[in-house]
Amino acid sequence: MTELATSFWRKRLEQCADALTANNFTVFIADRLSEAEAIFRKQILKDIKVSSASWGDSITLKDSGILEFLKSAPEIDFIDTFDPGITREESMELRRRALLVDLFLTGSNAVTEDGCLVNLDMVGNRVGGLTFGPHHVVLVIGRNKIVEDVEAAMERIKRFAAPMNAIRHEGWKTPCVKTSFCMDCQSPQRICNTWTVTQKSYPKGRIRVILVNEELGL
Ligand code: SF4
Repeated sequence: MTELATSFWRKRLEQCADALTANNFTVFIADRLSEAEAIFRKQILKDIKVSSASWGDSITLKDSGILEFLKSAPEIDFIDTFDPGITREESMELRRRALLVDLFLTGSNAVTEDGCLVNLDMVGNRVGGLTFGPHHVVLVIGRNKIVEDVEAAMERIKRFAAPMNAIRHEGWKTPCVKTSFCMDCQSPQRICNTWTVTQKSYPKGRIRVILVNEELGL
């Protein structure tokens, strides 16, 4: 079954990669998350000039090993906006600075079969960096994020990704933490504030996507 699933998803990833490429994204396909890290180092980093980097919250990215690599690279000023040792105020200031780095990395809540990225953000730093500011953007996206269209993407995010994301925040008190369903809340801790649909990469090739043939992230 595993081999069959891998083969099935490989075809889906290739079709999604073609659609993303037609929309001016630069796309790579990895069979494993560890392979994504190698693609990042050997194929992406060698093509771009980077002296500063940062990231927007992403479980997939955290698990990839890419952040550790960047943190240890002496030539790169890595702005760690999610360092657990800093205060909320310090984190917010770093997130502002992260919008002007050379390289910004994150994941995506969904990617459509016709090659669009769909995201929902609480603070806006993740979709902000994705949209404008950093010269280069790299996204690592698991196969489970592929959906038919924007409507299906929004459905996936509201029914699954957003409540799961709220539940993973320790001490969060939004209604979805209790029920697992989105209640379109008015909570000050509401994590669902800004939607983005990235239909094309502008300029062409600014956004690089690594599609991974594994179930990753939320
Ligand atoms: S709008 Fe509120 S209840 Fe709905 S998923 Fe977002 S945080 Fe949870």
